[in-house]
Amino acid sequence: MLLIVVLGFPAHPCLRQPIRYLLITAELLRFCIRIHTDRGEPGNTKLIKSATGNNQMTRLITILGGMLFAAGPLFADTLIHAGRLIDGESATAVNEVTLRVAGSTITAIENGYTAPGADDTVIDMTDQTVMPGLMDMHVHLTGQYSARSNLNRFTLNEADYAFDSAMYAKRTLEAGFTVVRNLGDGFNVTVALRKAIDAGDVPGPKIFTAAKGISSTGGHGDPTNGWAAHFDADPTPKDGVVNSVDDARKAVRQRYKDGADWIKITATGGVLSVAKSGQNPQFTIEELTAIIDTAKDYGLRVAAHAHGTEGMRRAVVAGVASIEHGTYMTDDVMKLMKKHGTYYVPTVMAGNWVAEKAKIDGFFPELVRPKAATIGPLIEDTFSRAYKSGVKIVFGTDTGVSPHGDNAQEFALMVRGGMPPMEAIQSATSVAADFLEIGDTHGRLKVGKQADIIAVPGNPLQDITLMQQVSFVMKGGKVYKD
Ligand SMILES: [Zn+2]
Repeated sequence: MLLIVVLGFPAHPCLRQPIRYLLITAELLRFCIRIHTDRGEPGNTKLIKSATGNNQMTRLITILGGMLFAAGPLFADTLIHAGRLIDGESATAVNEVTLRVAGSTITAIENGYTAPGADDTVIDMTDQTVMPGLMDMHVHLTGQYSARSNLNRFTLNEADYAFDSAMYAKRTLEAGFTVVRNLGDGFNVTVALRKAIDAGDVPGPKIFTAAKGISSTGGHGDPTNGWAAHFDADPTPKDGVVNSVDDARKAVRQRYKDGADWIKITATGGVLSVAKSGQNPQFTIEELTAIIDTAKDYGLRVAAHAHGTEGMRRAVVAGVASIEHGTYMTDDVMKLMKKHGTYYVPTVMAGNWVAEKAKIDGFFPELVRPKAATIGPLIEDTFSRAYKSGVKIVFGTDTGVSPHGDNAQEFALMVRGGMPPMEAIQSATSVAADFLEIGDTHGRLKVGKQADIIAVPGNPLQDITLMQQVSFVMKGGKVYKD
């Protein structure tokens, strides 16, 4: 009786899905009743038989149908009509395809532009190139370098960094970066930021964070470098400063306790720390081994900031997962990296940025300026040599040195350094996802993967600077920029 009413109902588009559900529910119930009745179970038969075809049954179906109607259309998908699709893995792009997204997942990829169902939403990207959300393997979301940065160390509170980091995370996401690895912060701000983003409270990329990096006294990550002696600062493993094997183990365990996903070490001097050398090795091999072995025990991998050759060599031999910057990388070190499977995170744009700023009087402290002027411009050449030698390269920018949201400028520098555009894009999608060990869910536009999807106008394979014009960002099926 009810079925006849439903079938005869005028099929307005808004009602098609609920009607379909009502029919399915009714059929299911009828089916159950038939089974129970046929089985002739003495306890149930009477009740079920009495329900069949009478008001009680009709009421039950109506209630269920009403519940489904209230829940809204259950099969409503988002269809992305993509003029060009770069899937993050294939060597070539494909034209005119439809990505079907249900909830947070890609459920189908169809040739041509699929016509939407009554409740589906279409996103028209027919003049765009659609690709997986980008991943930056080296950012610092809690700050952005400026001429004031050294003063900020004495004037900013934890809450200041927290608010700034939320702003920078949003900017990063809107630039098309749906995943980042944060390599060094203060006060564990990015651990809290990660939680807020995962909870959906704050818009931002998925974060893998190392929290506070680990250094040695006076090393690149000593937070008290350059302070006057009367401050009598002597930071501890808790602050990320170690000077023995035991300290090294304790510092790793502290990061585990703090909720870090990675360990960051400063294996050599660096450019922006107020210290003389940008190259000297800053850990013994014993300390490095202690860090890496302890990290392994706790399921953490290690990223090593390194400019100088000897510190880089020690870090690779000890077993770090990635070398950051890698400025004075020799052929021997490249050979070692290939042997150990170590990834290279170039951060070319950070090198160029500090080299530019070194030209401005007073921008950097006097100890920093010569390092910025000499080390900065070398990274582009290191990148070219590493690419030619076959070292595994994964996209990373050191953003927070240069402004947040500019991350995609790195693509043009990689292409200028000899990497084909498609490979540069893959270094920030499938290669990065595999590096982070999230390749099962991220980094490729394939059926079953998470819907982290971005778009840029035109064809970035012909003009790689188009990567800097991200027009659309979806993360986990939710649109953040359109
Ligand atoms: Zn960095």
